[in-house]
Amino acid sequence: MSDYVRIFDTTLRDGEQCPGATMNLEEKLRVARQLALLNVDVIEAGFPIASKDDFEAVKTIAGEIEGPEIAGLCRCLPKDIERGWQAVKGARKPRLHIFLATSKIHLQYKLRKAEDEILRQAVEMTKYAASLCANVEFSPEDASRTERSFLAEVVEAVIEAGATTVNIPDTVGYAVPWEYGETIKYLRTHVKNIDRAVLSAHCHDDLGLAVANSLAAVANGARQVEVAVNGLGERAGNCALEEIVMAIKTRREVLGVDTRVNTQQIMAASRLVSQITGFPVPPNKAIVGSNAFKHEAGIHQHGVLVHRATYEIMSPEQIGLNPEEIAQGIVLGKHSGHHAFEKRLKDLGYNLTQDEVARALERFKEVADKKKVVYDEDLHAIVEDVVATGARPTYTIDYLSVTAGSHLIPTATVRLRKGGRVVQRAATGDGPVDAVFKAISSITHIKGELLDYAIRSVTSGREAMGEVTVKVRYKERIYTGVAASTDVIEASAKAYVNCLNRILV
Ligand SMILES: [Zn+2]
Repeated sequence: MSDYVRIFDTTLRDGEQCPGATMNLEEKLRVARQLALLNVDVIEAGFPIASKDDFEAVKTIAGEIEGPEIAGLCRCLPKDIERGWQAVKGARKPRLHIFLATSKIHLQYKLRKAEDEILRQAVEMTKYAASLCANVEFSPEDASRTERSFLAEVVEAVIEAGATTVNIPDTVGYAVPWEYGETIKYLRTHVKNIDRAVLSAHCHDDLGLAVANSLAAVANGARQVEVAVNGLGERAGNCALEEIVMAIKTRREVLGVDTRVNTQQIMAASRLVSQITGFPVPPNKAIVGSNAFKHEAGIHQHGVLVHRATYEIMSPEQIGLNPEEIAQGIVLGKHSGHHAFEKRLKDLGYNLTQDEVARALERFKEVADKKKVVYDEDLHAIVEDVVATGARPTYTIDYLSVTAGSHLIPTATVRLRKGGRVVQRAATGDGPVDAVFKAISSITHIKGELLDYAIRSVTSGREAMGEVTVKVRYKERIYTGVAASTDVIEASAKAYVNCLNRILV
């Protein structure tokens, strides 16, 4: 496979930049390991100079993850590049990714520099980066709004200075496919040394065109696309990894290229990122939504039963789902064994550690005791719960009691355990959940601002599991906590404690 599209995943950098998607080190490592299983070509692990945490995350991932190249993002400044290099140099295949804005609007209002100054800075910093690392990617930020002739001049100069990949970002999600494709084509025909570098697309989804724009770039010769799992990213997000990879795979005869991604790991990657960030995947989301392979209309169901290709352009197996068992909707009960349970989780696309399977099984038994039958949706909630509490919980709930009613002042008593220490507090509130949160806050002394509280039932019926998501702002950052239980007050308490634990990590 000589002519293939490199998949550059930026879930951990651009994706993590999106409000509420903050991940701790352990969570970033889990995502990076899954990206390695997906066999992406490059993992952009973070922006090393942004914070100490970012630096540590990039450095740890560089040291641990084998397979993909590990990139760190840097502005075109010596101190950024120096720090970036310190973070990635331990990787088997390190990459420095440097960026500098080139559009008139950025030059005028943000950088207050003239074009020739920008050109000089781009060349100098590319040379500096290349003196440290043989693998340098240069991004002219806001390229899609940069005058083509100046863009070509910059691209040619940075390739001359040692850039091996040149990325053309549609930073603000403004381009339309044929226009963006034209830009790639223009660079391929107007930049003399273009064959010495890989052209890359980085598209944002502000107009819902990120995947379409990236495909247009590929059709015009780009051989790297920058993506994020579930399309996570700034504002409306980035080009979704699962969508572009499956588009290239499904329409290979039209595009004439391929990727090296192991698509059977797509579902597991989507689930992991959704669990860790607390951002649910909409049911109608392409490729990874829960309805993506469900046929509802009678005519469609009949067609698929006779011959799947009548209404299916790709198969669920390709992304790591087991269609027979999904169709049968196997339900588990309290007598289901360890093997059946573990197999079901695998069929649903989860890669869990033995420890996580054990903890999930424990939770499953508690739920099965209350519910009798446990559906796939319940299992998703259980796994989310186990993964969310998995990152070495600082606080755990030891005891919870709530009284509420139309003539009672809602009162909660909560006992939390942290290491060997147990603290109990009671509080009253506007409602039972408010009382629980106040009691928890009075134990932990974390004064965050509750931004969002959402509850949804994951199955139907009176014994349905309720999944609670809370978002808390603490010192300028937004943290998410998710938990599920058949008791929504308990789910709320656990979600809130999960969130506070993330603040503490
Ligand atoms: Zn971006």
